[in-house]
Amino acid sequence: MKDQIKTLARQYAADIVANRRHLHANPELSFNEYNTARFVAEQLKAIGLTPQEGVANTGLVALIEGRKTGSSENRVVGLRADMDALPIHEANDVPYKSTVEGVMHACGHDVHTSSLLGTARILQELRDQFEGTVKLVFQPAEEKAPGGASLMIKDGVLENPSPASMLGQHVAPNVPVGKIGFREGMYMASTDELYLTVIGKGGHGAMPDQLIDPVLIASHIIVALQQIISRNRKPANPSVLSFGRFVADGVTNVIPNEVKIEGTFRCMDEEWREDGLRRMKKMAEGMAEAMGAVCEFTVVRGYPFLKNHPELTRRMRSAATEYMGPENIVNLDLWMAGEDFAFYSQVVDSCFYRLGTRNEARGIISGVHTPTFDIDESALEIGAGLMSWLAVEELRVKS
Ligand SMILES: [Zn+2]
Ligand SMILES: [Zn+2]
Repeated sequence: MKDQIKTLARQYAADIVANRRHLHANPELSFNEYNTARFVAEQLKAIGLTPQEGVANTGLVALIEGRKTGSSENRVVGLRADMDALPIHEANDVPYKSTVEGVMHACGHDVHTSSLLGTARILQELRDQFEGTVKLVFQPAEEKAPGGASLMIKDGVLENPSPASMLGQHVAPNVPVGKIGFREGMYMASTDELYLTVIGKGGHGAMPDQLIDPVLIASHIIVALQQIISRNRKPANPSVLSFGRFVADGVTNVIPNEVKIEGTFRCMDEEWREDGLRRMKKMAEGMAEAMGAVCEFTVVRGYPFLKNHPELTRRMRSAATEYMGPENIVNLDLWMAGEDFAFYSQVVDSCFYRLGTRNEARGIISGVHTPTFDIDESALEIGAGLMSWLAVEELRVKS
C-alpha cells in the first residue's frame, strides 16, 4: 500500500503543483474563498466525489468511502486543509506570482489545499483497499477570528459521520524539504487580544496634583500584569504577555485624559487561560481604581491552544517514520503562534504536523506571513502522499 501511494503521489505530483500554482496566483482573503471553493469542488467532482458545499459559507466537506467493514464499526478519519490567503503584497518574482493586488498565499494554505486535493485523488483511487471513511475538510478563514474551524464545527463538520481523529499539516519554512515535524502534547498557543483604556483626568503637566495621570497609572498596570505571568502561572505552563501598543497622546507638558494599551496573551492551558485573564482584568481595574482612575479592560478571544493528542501523534510519527525514513522525522519546539486547527484539537483527537518546505540552496528561506514566502514545491508530492498514508494507517486502528 505504501509503495502504491508513493507511486500515485509521484504520478500526480505535476498536477498537484499546477493546482498549487493556480491557487497561489489567485489568492482570496479569509471568508472570501469563493473561487477557491469552486475550484476545489470542481476538482473533487472530477474524481467522482460529491462535496457538500457552503459549509461555514465557503468551506467544503467530502467523504471517501472505503470498503465496508461488515461490523457496525466504521472508523472515520478527518483530513483538514485551510484555504485562505493574507493581506500581503507578494514580492516574489515567480511565474505563479499572486495576480491580486495586496493579497498573497503567504502562509502556505495554497499548499495545504492542493496537497489535500492530491491526497483525495490518491485515496479515491485506492478506496477499495482500505476500510472506513476519509472525511476531507476544506476550511475557510484560518487567519481571521473567529476562525473558520470554529464555524465549520458549528456547522457540524465533526458529525455525520464523526471523525475519530483529525489530521492537519502545515508548511514549515524552518524545516528542510523532505523532513516532517511532530510534537506530542501542547504545540501552539491560545491567542487572546487585550484592549485596555485607562481613563484619568488630563491637564497641565506642571500641576499633577490637580490631575489623575493615566500615563503613570497605565505604566504601573503594564508592569503589574507581567507579575501575573511570573508569579501566578505554574512554571510548567508556557505563557506570553506582550503589549505592542501604548498610546498616550499628550505632549511634553500636557497629560492626556486617557491612555490606550493593546496586547496579546498566549498560553497552552485552557484553565490557566481563564484564570490569567480573570486575574489581569481584576489587577488592571483594581489598580486604576486605587489610583483614582478607571480601566476598561476588554478581551477579544482568539483561538484555544493546540494540543496534539499524544497517542495519535505517536502513531502518526511512527507511520511517517515508515514512509519517510527515521532520518527525516524531526521534533518540533513549542510555538507561541496561534492556529485555528486548535478548535478541532479541543474536541477530537488531533494531530497537527509540519511539512518541511525550506530549501536554502535555492534561497527558499522566508518565514510565513512575509512577502517573500515561498516553498520548495517538491514538498507537495510528499505532503499529498504522506497524508494519504497517515490516513490509511489511522483507519487501520481498532477503536
Ligand atoms: Zn498564517
Ligand atoms: Zn497557516
